[in-house]
Amino acid sequence: MILHPRRFAVFQGQDCLVPRQLAEQLHSGADSALLSTTVPEAISWLAAGIPPELFTGAPQGYSYSTFVFQGIAYGAVLLKDDDARLIKAGGLENAVNFPVRELAFDFSSQLGRFALLAKAHAHWAVVSRFCGACGAPLVDANGNEEVREPLDDHAHGARFCPRCKRIFFPRMSPAVIVLVRKGNSILLEHNVRFPGKRHSLIAGFVEIGETLEEAAAREIREEAGIEVKNLQYLRSQPWPFPDSLMLGFIAEWASGEAHPDGVEIDHLDWYTADNLPEMPMRGSIARSIIDRFVAGEFSGTR
Ligand SMILES: [Zn+2]
Repeated sequence: MILHPRRFAVFQGQDCLVPRQLAEQLHSGADSALLSTTVPEAISWLAAGIPPELFTGAPQGYSYSTFVFQGIAYGAVLLKDDDARLIKAGGLENAVNFPVRELAFDFSSQLGRFALLAKAHAHWAVVSRFCGACGAPLVDANGNEEVREPLDDHAHGARFCPRCKRIFFPRMSPAVIVLVRKGNSILLEHNVRFPGKRHSLIAGFVEIGETLEEAAAREIREEAGIEVKNLQYLRSQPWPFPDSLMLGFIAEWASGEAHPDGVEIDHLDWYTADNLPEMPMRGSIARSIIDRFVAGEFSGTR
């Protein structure tokens, strides 16, 4: 069955376009409760108001990726930074940019889950326009009668190449993030890309052919020059900036003296719970793992 979006979630850069009134409420209150109770429909736009011809004719037309959330079919679109064409033609003049990270600070809320899911689809729509093998324009795989493989709900966003018949599923880039403990201290580092003096956990992308455990050990070795032991999985979180799946671990220092690699990391040190540097933003998996450490959750582990 072909899915037709009833509503559109519209993104620009790292922001979601939301109604001005809602944005003002969210900002003025800085109200966690309001963010937690805002429904996904409130940050999306009726498809009926957006002229369908905006979506035809690559490469000028917008591309979107379709998904279902709580029974409603949504399309997700990512606009270029200076692009106002869809905003004008779709009657979104009332829309203002609001950071997706702030919408998603509570990942367990339906708004948080929706914002991250829709953001991931919006990015996927942009990078899956053409077949990587033969260069033909891709089409939505769902509901396409040429697609032999049965696609279920999880295949939302899958693309099909009408020329060479390949199917492309939405791509994720797995990354490991590790809280390294030494006694009652944890290792926190400042990446050269971080704003200000913010420090966070060691993290890095998994390379092809590597296990998660190998990736974690390699990143810690490369960035901090130490070896770890007793690596244990904690939790995961989708992080569509642009397409990561973060896999959180805890490990214990085993050997070596921690020092920054001087390239990616310009400062790192061991910190106790009562003497932490500037922290990662709430909503990130790094922050949630550090908060668990501060709450004493890992003090009993070996
Ligand atoms: Zn192809």
